[in-house]
Formats: sequence, C-alpha cells, structure tokens
Amino acid sequence: MANGFVLNMKVIIANWKMNVGVRESVALARGTLLALRGRRTLPEVIICPSFIALSEVHKVVARSSVKLGAQNLFWEDHGAYTGEISGRMLTELGVSHVIIGHSERREYLGETDEMIRNKVAQALENQLDVILCVGETAVERKSGAQRERVRTQLVHVLDGVHLKSHDRLMIAYEPVWAIGTGEIPEVAEILAMNEFIRSILSDVLPNMNANKIRVLYGGSVEGNNAYSFLREQTIDGLLVGGASVKLNQLKEIIDAASEVLDAQQTKV
Ligand code: PEP
Repeated sequence: MANGFVLNMKVIIANWKMNVGVRESVALARGTLLALRGRRTLPEVIICPSFIALSEVHKVVARSSVKLGAQNLFWEDHGAYTGEISGRMLTELGVSHVIIGHSERREYLGETDEMIRNKVAQALENQLDVILCVGETAVERKSGAQRERVRTQLVHVLDGVHLKSHDRLMIAYEPVWAIGTGEIPEVAEILAMNEFIRSILSDVLPNMNANKIRVLYGGSVEGNNAYSFLREQTIDGLLVGGASVKLNQLKEIIDAASEVLDAQQTKV
C-alpha cells in the first residue's frame, strides 16, 4: 500500500523441480535472499525446492519475506500411502504454498483432473495456498482447442470447491509446449488466455471476485523476457522452472519485477 493505493503485487515462483539437492537448494535460497536485499519494492517470492530440501531451506528463509512452497502433495491426510507426503506434513516443515497439477506430473505420473481436485481440497484443508497449473499441449494448440482444454481443467478441478479467501488460490497458465522449450506465446495470447481464465473462475467460483485471484504465466521465462510479461497489469507474476536454479537468471527476473513495481509506485 502506498498513499492509500494498492500496488499490483507481482509474484515470482521458483520451481526447482528435481534439479537440485539439499546443499545446492540451501545455497540458492541464500542467494535469493541476497538478491532481494536493498530494493525499494519487492515482489512476493515463493521458492519450491524438492521435498528433501524443504526443511533446510525453511531454516534459511524463515525470518524473511520469502515463502516456502512444495512441488506436490498427496490427497489424503495420513495412512498407508508409501512414498507420499500429506499437506499436514508439509505444514510441519513451514510450507505455505503448494504447486498442484503441474504438466510434468500430469504427463509422467498420470495425474488426472480428479486427482488434482482431491489434492486441491487437501491443500486447502491444511491452509496451504494452492498454485494450480493449467495449460494446453502443442497438439491441442494446433487444433485450436487451447481454451477448451484450460476450461475443462479449471471446471473439473475447481467447480464447487469452497474457498475462503482469494489468497488461497493462484492459477499458473503454463502452455505445455512452452515449458523448458524456449518457445513462448505472444504476450497478447497470454493476456487473452488470462482474461478467459478469469471468466471461467467467475463461473466456477461465483462467491469470489475473479479479478482478485492471481493469474500467472509460466513457460521458458528467463531474465531477458521476464519484463515483457511482468509489465502487463493482468499478468500477476511468473512461475519459473529452469531459469530459477540459475541465480543470475533468477536475480534478473526479480530485477524485472522490482522495476515494474518501482514504476507503479512512482506513478502513485
Ligand atoms: C515450469 O516447470 O513450471 C516451467 C515453467 O518451466 P520452465 O520455466 O523451465 O519452462
């Protein structure tokens, strides 16, 4: 808040995937804190290490503005589910956010919209903020079915879900063909999809003001293109994979977010 005007807060989510172990995660987390130092304005930064690094990374970020996210959770609270991690367990480690429905899990682990819906319910029951990923494949895009795909994902996962606050849900629009490929959609396409996503959210979550639910973009974001997304008012932030484990890239992405936020503050 500045002079009574609410800034359009930007979110940067670092999805470290299965790329770094505990030691490297701790080093990256420390580097991220250093990259945030001395800035006039700060984006909201959420880092999502692998499960095994959550505890150590939490020690690094615990007294900072950086939030800790997990890359997945299971849909049951406890029980005989070998190898799975529940929302309750994540909160014990200081996790506040969880990525759900990432396309890599849909593709390699066979996650369906039904499983994802159950995971969202489990996360919300444990007061975890949900970062829900949606997006079309290259084939769907080629056949012009991208909107239908995204609509189906949102409706199947969110219809009837009880949300108490806007903060509990973010949508990451991640076209599958853009993840890790260096290919990115036109900014205009992302803006149109974000508007479409908000229209679906209004239908499936009628008690929420869909304009207040944050809609992010993800897919081949790097230091040199982050500003082109972040300067758009309706792109509330970025979900970054590959570039987020390269500290210089992550810093450039945070620089871009700060530049946008500084400019907003100057206008106020
Ligand atoms: C992701 O994993 O969500 C992602 C967007 O990856 P990348 O930035 O590497 O395309």
